[in-house]
Amino acid sequence: MELKSFYPLSGGVRHYAWGETASSGAVPYIAKLLGVDPGSEPWAELWLGAHPSLPSEVLVDGVRQPLGEAISLNPVEWLGMAAAAALTPPQLSFLFKVLACNHPLSIQSHPDAAAAKVLHATKPQLYPDANDKTEVMIALEPFEALAGFRNLQMIRRDLGAVKAFAPLLETWNRGADADNLKGLCAALFAMADASRQAMLAAALAEVTAAGRPANPAETLFAKLSAEYPGDRGTFFAFLLNQISLQSGQALFLAPNTPHAYQRGAGIECMTNSDNVIRAGLTPKAVDVETLMGTLNFQDVGAALLEPVREARGTGTVERYVLPTPKFQLAFYRGAPCQVDELGDAIGVFLVLSGRAALSVSGQATVEAGRGTAWVRPAALKNATVTPLEPGSVVVWAMPNF
Ligand SMILES: [Zn+2]
Repeated sequence: MELKSFYPLSGGVRHYAWGETASSGAVPYIAKLLGVDPGSEPWAELWLGAHPSLPSEVLVDGVRQPLGEAISLNPVEWLGMAAAAALTPPQLSFLFKVLACNHPLSIQSHPDAAAAKVLHATKPQLYPDANDKTEVMIALEPFEALAGFRNLQMIRRDLGAVKAFAPLLETWNRGADADNLKGLCAALFAMADASRQAMLAAALAEVTAAGRPANPAETLFAKLSAEYPGDRGTFFAFLLNQISLQSGQALFLAPNTPHAYQRGAGIECMTNSDNVIRAGLTPKAVDVETLMGTLNFQDVGAALLEPVREARGTGTVERYVLPTPKFQLAFYRGAPCQVDELGDAIGVFLVLSGRAALSVSGQATVEAGRGTAWVRPAALKNATVTPLEPGSVVVWAMPNF
């Protein structure tokens, strides 16, 4: 089979409770992007990729099939030589998502390659695949997130200002890990449910008492407590960095980094994995043993990235150069893309706004509307994606092996 076109890709939508609903004000970002009636459901994630738990379907010569199956039948033509050789068996190395949240997600981290293999083998019900998970979030509007541990001294200062935490701090200070955050988290997770809930309730009463000038950690703790009263995840308001992304800024998250997206819409791309190690702010299972064994407790800070910008005609190409060969992203804002510039590699792209013309030499031009997604097989050469309106934006995800 010869792959000589751009092929339409239809992705699945996740309606997680933290997504955006029509009742919360504006039309949910994902429903608006897809041009569909949002109904009353929350719209959380659009998945474009080949993960077995929600595979996208690609339409090739009138036949619709899961993208992963199509790739496995013809890996070199779809993926390109390098990407087909990089993973065994050959497979798409990334999962491309649009994410929009109106409520905080669970506090979580993701495993590295070694841990993912063990976790999937021993607890497949919690860890659905054997892949590491590295991810990047690129804001499409002002976006709030928590990521990475704060500086230890700052955490001690803020916790020390809340009397209700004194017994917990005492337990931490008496333990073997008194000089690091692993000790503090171990002390928190060792508390019985009733005493932890009593501590959090007392702390909430303290920080919201009239006349108290609350600091940012206390303000966040009160906000999270309103949504998840008594949940130990609320305590992480004191532990994690609060990060505000402007539109176009990216947050890169290596495995084992604690994080929780709070509010906003963005493009998320990750290795092809759905492995989540949860720490709190969730009714789902919290795997304390795995969390304590894998989390990076250092205050490494959060890696905010700006794209490399290149003016092209009246538009701009913005490339996100990421420290992983498994995925990178590029935004073509009012700028044409000649696929050969992307090399011998598969590309998944989404028309985020406006319209684009898909041109392949010798074939009729196809118009790609807003919200449509497509695959460029590596075997397709000498083809272009050209904006049809000044504000057209096309987002590409591709490997870089
Ligand atoms: Zn995550």
